[in-house]
Amino acid sequence: MSELDWQFAHSYRTLPPRFYASAVCAGFPNPHVLVFNTPLAHELGLLADGADFDPQTHADVLCGNRFPAQAHAIAQAYAGHQFGHFAVLGDGRATLIGEQRTPNGTLADVQLKGNGRTPYSRRGDGKAALAPMLREYLISEAMHALGIPTTRSLAVVRTGERVYRPHWPDGAVLVRTAQSHIRVGTFQFAALGGEVSDVRALADYTLARHFPDLTPEAQASPYCALLHAVVARQARLTALWQWAGFVHGVMNTDNSAISGETLDYGPCAFLDNYHPDTVFSSIDHHGRYRYANQAPMAQWNMARLAETLLPLLDADEHRALAQAYAAVNGFMPAFEQHYRTKMAQRLGFADNEQAHWHLVECLLHLMMRHRADYTNTFARLTLAQSGNRNTRLDGTDALFAADDFAAWHQAWQQALQGCPPDTVAERMRTANPAVIPRNAHVETALAAAEQGDMQPFHDLLAVLQQPFRHGDETCRVYQHVPAQDEPYRTFC
Ligand code: AMP
Ligand code: MG
Ligand code: MG
Repeated sequence: MSELDWQFAHSYRTLPPRFYASAVCAGFPNPHVLVFNTPLAHELGLLADGADFDPQTHADVLCGNRFPAQAHAIAQAYAGHQFGHFAVLGDGRATLIGEQRTPNGTLADVQLKGNGRTPYSRRGDGKAALAPMLREYLISEAMHALGIPTTRSLAVVRTGERVYRPHWPDGAVLVRTAQSHIRVGTFQFAALGGEVSDVRALADYTLARHFPDLTPEAQASPYCALLHAVVARQARLTALWQWAGFVHGVMNTDNSAISGETLDYGPCAFLDNYHPDTVFSSIDHHGRYRYANQAPMAQWNMARLAETLLPLLDADEHRALAQAYAAVNGFMPAFEQHYRTKMAQRLGFADNEQAHWHLVECLLHLMMRHRADYTNTFARLTLAQSGNRNTRLDGTDALFAADDFAAWHQAWQQALQGCPPDTVAERMRTANPAVIPRNAHVETALAAAEQGDMQPFHDLLAVLQQPFRHGDETCRVYQHVPAQDEPYRTFC
């Protein structure tokens, strides 16, 4: 039976000691591995190809009861604006056991989440309930399959104890991997002590880890280049969220990863019917992180990052500010460019010229008016455009029956004239997912898992790992939108 091949670096420990604290082992009574991501383990170099592997034999390591010999377990310090209010935080329920050297030469953080208290736990218990950890596994793997940068999920381990939450649910640990867990909030923490050398240390570390290939021009002003590079990645990420209909729900600066990966799956959810003001999180009372506000909020977070870098940008305060403004103001044009391109592709166009973008905007408006399902509308347009005889756009759907839709459809078909139909259909099949982690199906899978039945979870996961299989029978089951009495709510 083969072992997990931990090849740990501990580069984070080269930062000044105030950036982290030592973490201790957990003492869970009866850990049981519920899900293990074998393909990811291969990607990370943890498993040799074809190795015969039983994850259960590693339950103690995967839940944090025992650290691998090569580990140096730490909790990371950070700060953050939570719903706009600044707080000093840190990993209150997470432990970084090491940075795995992957076969392609990069480092991947291996972090346990929910393994107990750390020096940053404040009044929390440091633990996690089963359903939210399975939810993060499911949604992060779905995001990855959709092509959206994200932290990954290696395993979920049921701990064998119940946690102090309403209903005393089973406790669990998620093993999460990431390009790193450096956040905007890590830079805010660095700046907090008032030592420019701390910010420089973190910026140099981040440059070396995430942006080792700066151009010679960029090398002349590396901190400005760092800011531009982070803004660019964040703009692309946010555009992909908007494209997919993903509402993150808690875009606090401590949940904004410098790597440009989606981080923290607490209250997130996907749009069912299209509406720009959609909010799922039960604590987002003012809609700060509503669907339509995600790009402005990501840009706001970039401004907080820029503030921390000001002393490094230029000795002259005005020149430093001008550089920061230029970088942060680059967010919206970059975002718009990515978003409009992805959305134009949804309608089969190769480019986002104004007329094509206008068609997208009109369709979104009609979808809002007729309360049309975001993912399914585009999936059905895709099937119809692919010549699927069973897909007529008159159906039961209010949108497709509407006169204003018929007029739009005619304008769209006219705009497509001259484009080879196969190219259009193929472009639509890759730009429009057939399935996303639809809220009702996610809840069903999690409810079954809480009752000890993991089969619905595995069935849903398998479908979400191949989200572009249009016309597939299994996909059809997960496209179904059950009627709901009340708006979907998420908690974290
Ligand atoms: P989040 O809203 O998930 O981004 O978490 C905000 C902060 O609260 C982070 O510093 C977490 O580590 C911390 N936190 C969340 N849940 C717990 C918990 N059960 N015990 C200790 N700290 C927690
Ligand atoms: Mg968080
Ligand atoms: Mg969270």
